[in-house]
Amino acid sequence: MVVPYKHEPFTDFSLEENKKAMEAAIKQVEADLGKDYPLIIGGERIATDEKIEVVNPANRKEVIGRVSKANQDLAEKAHKIADETFGWWRKTKASFRADILFRAAAIVRRRKHEFSAHLIKEGGKPWKEADADTAEAIDFMEFYARQMLRIDEGVEINSRPIENNRYHYIPLGVGVVISPWNFLFAIMCGTTVASMVSGNTVLLKPASSTPIIAYKMMEVLEEAGMPDGVINYIPGSGKEVGDYLVDHPRTRFVSFTGSREVGTRIFERAAKVQEGQKWLKRTIIEMGGKDTIVVDKDSDLELAADAITYSAFGFSGQKCSACSRVVAHEDVYDELLDRVVQKTKEEVNHGDPTDNSHYMGPVIDQGAYDKILDYINIGKEEGKLMAGGNGDDSKGWFIEPTVFADLKPDSRIMQEEIFGPVVGFTKAKSFEQAIEIANNTEYGLTGAVITNNRSHIEKAREDFHVGNLYFNRGCTAAIVGYHPFGGFNMSGTDSKAGGPDYLIHHMQGKTTSEML
Ligand code: GLU
Repeated sequence: MVVPYKHEPFTDFSLEENKKAMEAAIKQVEADLGKDYPLIIGGERIATDEKIEVVNPANRKEVIGRVSKANQDLAEKAHKIADETFGWWRKTKASFRADILFRAAAIVRRRKHEFSAHLIKEGGKPWKEADADTAEAIDFMEFYARQMLRIDEGVEINSRPIENNRYHYIPLGVGVVISPWNFLFAIMCGTTVASMVSGNTVLLKPASSTPIIAYKMMEVLEEAGMPDGVINYIPGSGKEVGDYLVDHPRTRFVSFTGSREVGTRIFERAAKVQEGQKWLKRTIIEMGGKDTIVVDKDSDLELAADAITYSAFGFSGQKCSACSRVVAHEDVYDELLDRVVQKTKEEVNHGDPTDNSHYMGPVIDQGAYDKILDYINIGKEEGKLMAGGNGDDSKGWFIEPTVFADLKPDSRIMQEEIFGPVVGFTKAKSFEQAIEIANNTEYGLTGAVITNNRSHIEKAREDFHVGNLYFNRGCTAAIVGYHPFGGFNMSGTDSKAGGPDYLIHHMQGKTTSEML
């Protein structure tokens, strides 16, 4: 009997014992840096000449490792194997597949700090963020394994006296999973194991800036008994390998999390029926956000300032859920802005995340660094710079936590996803107007409302059009099984990762009816 699901607790690093354990794990990971990692196709390790060099974003001279790069031939080989493997994998018992995840979750839990230490190095995550990322990966495995067992129980439908009707879900086929670098463990793991536990086989193409954690997950799943060919690890370029796999006529579904630009490209390509293709491809696509915290006149401003600061600057704002816009009622605007600016200057220090005294680490790479600084320059023209505004890429890619005030709701800083530590403020005359402004982007992922007014909570519940709406808290940090996560409009297909029907997106319903 499986015990009820409960999310993995976060580690309290103020306890000396935990701090020591993490420091030891960081040393262990440092001793392991610089290795070569092959592809894994049908269980076979394949090294290629062309490699992706993965560096620490806080110290680009530190090479985390070199990962073999798949080309179209290898992608084809992997696709064939995944397709063949699907022939028997689809018939395995749900409990067989779920048990692999229960075991894998236990393995990661036992080596938790080692994984988190790796995320600090490969992803540039501060301790707290890395610990949460590992915890979420464990949660996805535990949660989806249980969900699969529940789906396997079947759904009740009616039968007339002369017939026996059944309704159950079967897997789809070969899935292409293209995962992001920001939740390099959690989202990579969640999207992959959801596809696998529901009976599909997988071609996993992790983000090119963070592919090593995916290799490490593969090792864990193999140790837990996952057969060869079920998940195939094929890092490579999006244009070469990604497009090829998405277009492939034998691809049955694509699960993507990442930028809007790539997401819409995948959506269009997957929609085209290729020669020899005999189905319509399913897509599960989670993209960006332009997430707003609305602060009402009657509200706890200290709570609001804390919620804004953490949601905007946790992991350098590199979450699709990050708060990048604040809409405050004009009566409290100045005081709230003061508090956020003061907190940002006093509390949000940044530097190498290996050192736990840093609130914020670097941004992921040169491309992100340049793009964010371009936006900061735009912000200086569109609004008033209140904090931060500078970058330093001499060692790693560091950008100061940046606050802009007095922006127009339709300014670029208030409309376009920056994906960095930048937050903009604007003023509203009423709560109604604040919600209107909050809704005026093309996205619809997360949002929060800070208010003591019950009728305003109810109004926002009806009218604030986002997939994840929070009251009197920040707008990041959704927990698997507690806050099903996914957005509306240009944020994606709202598949709700960590939600009760997530796996169903990877399956199809089949009715059988026998005459008696
Ligand atoms: N689930 C994460 C959160 O709630 C965000 C995921 C993402 O950035 O892709 O903060």
